[in-house]
Amino acid sequence: PVRIRATGIEKTYTGRDGDVQALSGMELDVYDSEFFCLLGPSGCGKSTFLRLVSGLLEPDAGEIEIRTESNGDRPSTSMVFQEKGIFPWKSVLDNVAFGLKMRGVDRQKRYEIAREYIEKVNLSEFENAYPHQLSGGMAQRVGIARAFANDPQVLLMDEPFGDLDAQTKRYLQEELLSLWSESRKTVVYVTHDIEEAIQLGDRLGVMGARPGHVKEIVDVDLDRP
Ligand code: ADP
Ligand code: ADP
Repeated sequence: PVRIRATGIEKTYTGRDGDVQALSGMELDVYDSEFFCLLGPSGCGKSTFLRLVSGLLEPDAGEIEIRTESNGDRPSTSMVFQEKGIFPWKSVLDNVAFGLKMRGVDRQKRYEIAREYIEKVNLSEFENAYPHQLSGGMAQRVGIARAFANDPQVLLMDEPFGDLDAQTKRYLQEELLSLWSESRKTVVYVTHDIEEAIQLGDRLGVMGARPGHVKEIVDVDLDRP
């Protein structure tokens, strides 16, 4: 099991136009195997929190504990972004296989795994296509297939469906939930869309305006497929 616990997090960015406080007094526990949604308005610090969890950023103060309980190691994470997540010069197959290649999985095995996940997101016909040939929804499915194919302990998703039309969004939410139910990975999913948060999350952390922190935790009672 993995453990994610943020206590007393402070994070300020220093830029040319002065300081921007992104997080202040952030407290949060994310439990193993849950689908956690972090909900809040644009600019409240959601992405900053994900960057802290992934280790891309360090807090100015406070502690972010992220470890595997069995051995104390930092769990593996994969991130899915709203855009820019996939390589335009790589085919769908090579995009999905990329993380496996980085981990040294041999070519035959990584293509086998990649094809399995490409099929799960219904893109088998497009495995040799390139990103510019795909719709926005298809491109996000590539990102999701890659994230799951990497088999991380924790999946971090930053408004992956933010740019999609309502129907495509619903369809991809279903696909994501079905992939997630098979794997029960720990997910931290960031969105400003309350409907989406309720649709996807086991628990919601509701953030206020900046300086950002979680104001309320909501348990969502859902019948999972
Ligand atoms: P959200 O994901 O909720 O939209 P962010 O974590 O991206 O919020 O941003 C929180 C605040 O920090 C915002 O005011 C944003 O403009 C600011 N911010 C984010 N990244 C940077 C950065 N690299 N440099 C300066 N300010 C930043
Ligand atoms: P890259 O460096 O582009 O991530 P690789 O080094 O794994 O990819 O492979 C180089 C190219 O050769 C790939 O883009 C891929 O299309 C092609 N290729 C090599 N072997 C295979 C294979 N067994 N099946 C499909 N494509 C292959």
